[in-house]
Amino acid sequence: MQERFCTCGKMVLVRYGSNVKSARNPIFMIADKKIVSAVRLCPCCGMPLDINTLR
Ligand SMILES: [Zn+2]
Repeated sequence: MQERFCTCGKMVLVRYGSNVKSARNPIFMIADKKIVSAVRLCPCCGMPLDINTLR
């Protein structure tokens, strides 16, 4: 898993799949109080998470 940051500064974990198809569609996860959950929108600013817009 990689650590990336939303433009608002929220840390987002990115997990790439093991095959080519899923590698193009990484799974975004947020760690909050030791609970990790998959998300599609930033819980902080509501922006749709996109690998190209994360820092
Ligand atoms: Zn955000």
